[in-house]
Amino acid sequence: MGAKASSLLLLLGLLGGLWLGPVSELAAMDLAEGWEYRWGDSPFNAEGVPVWTLDQSSAAWSAIGFPSNPPGRNGQTNLWVRTTLPEGDWRDPVLYLFSVDLIVEIYLDGRKLYQYGRFDDAGRGRFEGWPWHMVSLPQDSAGELIYFRIFSDYKDIGLWGEVQVLERIDLLRRLVSGSIGRLIASGLTLLIGLLSLLFALVQPERGVFASLALFALASGSTVLSGAQANLLLFDAPLFWDYLGAAGYFLLPVAMAMLLQQWLRPAFQRLLGLIWMLNLAYLFAALSLSWVGVVSLAETYPVFDLLFLVSLLVMLLPALRFFRRGTRDQHLILAAYALLSLLLLLDMAVAHNVLPWGQVPLGWGSLGFALAVVVVSLTHYARMQHALRLLNASLEQQVQARTLELEQLALQDSLTGLKNRRFLDETLPRELALAKRQQSSLSVLICDIDHFKRFNDRHGHAAGDAVLQRVASHLHRVFRHTDLACRYGGEEFVVVMPGAGMDDARRCAETLRQLVKTDQIDYDGQRLEPVTLSVGIASWLDVERDADELLQRADRALYRAKANGRDRVECSD
Ligand code: GH3
Ligand code: MG
Ligand code: MG
Repeated sequence: MGAKASSLLLLLGLLGGLWLGPVSELAAMDLAEGWEYRWGDSPFNAEGVPVWTLDQSSAAWSAIGFPSNPPGRNGQTNLWVRTTLPEGDWRDPVLYLFSVDLIVEIYLDGRKLYQYGRFDDAGRGRFEGWPWHMVSLPQDSAGELIYFRIFSDYKDIGLWGEVQVLERIDLLRRLVSGSIGRLIASGLTLLIGLLSLLFALVQPERGVFASLALFALASGSTVLSGAQANLLLFDAPLFWDYLGAAGYFLLPVAMAMLLQQWLRPAFQRLLGLIWMLNLAYLFAALSLSWVGVVSLAETYPVFDLLFLVSLLVMLLPALRFFRRGTRDQHLILAAYALLSLLLLLDMAVAHNVLPWGQVPLGWGSLGFALAVVVVSLTHYARMQHALRLLNASLEQQVQARTLELEQLALQDSLTGLKNRRFLDETLPRELALAKRQQSSLSVLICDIDHFKRFNDRHGHAAGDAVLQRVASHLHRVFRHTDLACRYGGEEFVVVMPGAGMDDARRCAETLRQLVKTDQIDYDGQRLEPVTLSVGIASWLDVERDADELLQRADRALYRAKANGRDRVECSD
């Protein structure tokens, strides 16, 4: 393990060497032949040498093609395997083991050459992770028997994957180059996981992005933990195995959560059950192995079964969803499917259903990460566009509403005429205009005669109808450039820009006649006619302000009332 000293410099140097230096001519040599095994554990002599390594005869040993899971285990936890080291012109040879179930001591020439994990006096030990192993070999070891003392209380026992002798530098190069893909893929996936997490915080589709983030982080961790160069950076096999297990166990949790978001409300319970079960298993497995009740290795087979069942159960909702999902969702589902397939292959290799080989999980996770990027970007662009449209239409609505409100504020609700506020705003402006253009301007104040009495006799509602009727006569008699307003209760003011006293009087007379002769029916009965008194004032260029002009018109109106009502009076 000393040679596996974690050093960033070494890794960088190797990366450089990988690109610059030619790969050694000496190929790696597989230890594929001459394997023998023997169940049980060897006794040790007084010097601490395992007795089984002293006798080279094959009497007690059985031949086997590859030293993994020999027949006749019967619950045994201790196994010895041995083989002869090959001939080769090595400068700095090492023995490379892809993995061991679970702990191992290696003996050569009666000496302990390497140890991974700790054997107690009873020959038992604890799971310490599943790292690869690089065992330094003495120069002159070719042709010698090399012995492996193995303990495993896991379902598998023995060596696993590749066993080779090769130059140290070649092995290091291979481990690094073999990891580059995984490191890049997992780095990108983790980065995208973090970005999705950010998205989840700011986007409305919180749940979708949170589950995508969870999935990206989980698959990134799984792939990262499988990169062999990890141990060169941080020599803590158990840490990487825990990270890998956590990531791996989280995958179905994230998958079910995402489908749950998309398939609301169908399959809600089923998918909820799946992720809760998987999450519960994750916590139970990791915490129980952390405190030492079970070994992490033992938690995998049960999880694999759970994962397999979860994937199969999720297949139905996923297929159902695929038919009506959007293009984005199809892309994500396709990436899920690819990764699931690779995970299944990996699982099949782990359980010896398929021959050993490294499954390119990194590609699956990278494909998924890219799918998330594409979806997020298009989603973001679409959302920005939608927001802009929404903003524009909101602005339009606000403008229209403001205009409407402004108009309402200047209008009398009963008659639809302009109100007194409008008059107060407009009359001074019209006066200023008349002054500048030296044109005439007249103001009329019309008041319904004895309207109180009318109301008393016919009711307030009938009075309202009369007010509306008078307003419609005002509309008819005056031009639309004249400003007819309801000044107060039963009083109306008309401003006539450009009109002199005669014009104003003519119009006032027309109005008075119209109102007087109008026949108004209300509630099925003919109402008694009403009459108007009108006071007129024309602008003489002596008034200081609009109020003065109105006061003059009001005085004329007062005279009309005093002179018997139903008449038009002009101010002097
Ligand atoms: P005059 O001939 O002197 O103008 O007598 P009048 O009764 O018309 O005068 P006064 O100003 O004393 O009464 C105005 C009446 O107008 C009082 C009120 O009942 C009535 N009035 C004011 N606003 C409204 C309204 O919005 N609807 C109805 N139906 N009546 C109103
Ligand atoms: Mg009045
Ligand atoms: Mg009146």
